[in-house]
Amino acid sequence: MNNIAAIATGLSAAGISIIRISGETSISEVNKIFKGQDLTTVKPNTLNYGHIVDGDQVIDEVLVGIMHNPRSFTGEDVVEINCHGGMLITERILKLVLTLDVEVAEPGEFSKRAFLNGKKSLSEVSQTMELIEAKNETALNLAINTFSNPTNKLVEGLRSKLMDIISVIEVSIDYPEYDDIEEMTNEKLLPKIDLFQSEISAIIEDSKRGALFKNGIDVAIVGSPNVGKSSLLNYMSRENRAIVTDIAGTTRDVVETEINMKGLTLNLLDTAGIRETEDVVEKIGVEKSREQIELAKLVLFVVDSSRQLTPEEIELYELVSNKNHIVILNKTDLELQVDTTHFENFISLSALNQSGIENLEHKILEVLDLDNFDSQNAKYINRIQDVQKLEKTKMLLDEVREQIEFGMPVDTVEIDLKDALFSLGEILGIEVKNDLLNELFSRFCLGK
Ligand code: GDP
Repeated sequence: MNNIAAIATGLSAAGISIIRISGETSISEVNKIFKGQDLTTVKPNTLNYGHIVDGDQVIDEVLVGIMHNPRSFTGEDVVEINCHGGMLITERILKLVLTLDVEVAEPGEFSKRAFLNGKKSLSEVSQTMELIEAKNETALNLAINTFSNPTNKLVEGLRSKLMDIISVIEVSIDYPEYDDIEEMTNEKLLPKIDLFQSEISAIIEDSKRGALFKNGIDVAIVGSPNVGKSSLLNYMSRENRAIVTDIAGTTRDVVETEINMKGLTLNLLDTAGIRETEDVVEKIGVEKSREQIELAKLVLFVVDSSRQLTPEEIELYELVSNKNHIVILNKTDLELQVDTTHFENFISLSALNQSGIENLEHKILEVLDLDNFDSQNAKYINRIQDVQKLEKTKMLLDEVREQIEFGMPVDTVEIDLKDALFSLGEILGIEVKNDLLNELFSRFCLGK
């Protein structure tokens, strides 16, 4: 493959920066601009002191790491130039490297090569991305957790259990004369399927909750004008990114603010106050609010607790109450007037006095069922496609259950079990048929 290069470290001044070059002739190419040992003859996995030179001119004092194919990140020959960390010097060296037979890498191209060269599976590639892109502590824990509990390990565990079930059925059908093998009946099968399904469900659940931590949650803040939505947003973000105003209906556009709260990233959408109005411009805002309620994963419905609800607010609550929502009784510094019996899920706070946010933080985790999430031990699968395949497997098992309940013979049931096995195998990229045979022979040593 052609040689590619990119700055592997961040684009800000630091002690050192690393420029990574990967490709068939990367070592001999970089050797042309390196003064020190001959890089084409140094041992692999060494750091070599020397200078980057442009003709006669010394550009920087560097350490150059040399990795040989296939024992490198990409599986190709890789050179890593550790240079001084100023932005300009790093870019200067990169430019110099690009005058060689080296092209600038596309985003993700190193990882793509690692995948193509069999160094990393797709799950591993996305796991590395997660580590780098983690937006909050929980997401980082999840990414670290997947190093010791990778998708493959979780799915192989499931697959091996399903294989156990199938092989016992298969053997009891094909070799009924074997006395030492228990005969598999639907009655015996059902509890095994139940157990298996609950294991898959646990992984799906953890993965979905993990995805919420990873991706962040779109939160719509809605309510009538002047109830304190902008103030709340400011209180939550502790930044003044939203306009705080006491003129009704001026916060017309959606303002987004991202905040980290209790290890959860909230993408706060501040929308115009919802109310029936003739004002055209404001109507757009109102429409947007309705739209946001639809789109948001969680709706914070803010009310002014120092007055009764308006009919519009009661109507709006109808809209909100079908979603994950929390009613925020704001302005608790004033006398309570609102009738709280309208609401199931509410907390009180004062955005003005900046008090009561803990109530909201707890409630958010509770409403999203994330309060007991243990990111370090979660059975978490990072790729959404893999989780979807697990869901498919679980559905196939639902069909198996139905068949068992209908009293279908065990060999018919087995066909669907094999489909489920196949769908697990898809996550791992395994050819199921051969494996099943191997499994049978290795477990039972039939026909020795
Ligand atoms: P929005 O139209 O819903 O975004 O409401 P704003 O955040 O612009 O607030 C409207 C008015 O209510 C402003 O004068 C705020 O200072 C005031 N306000 C907001 N929160 C509180 C609160 O907790 N207590 C009191 N007393 N006033 C508040």
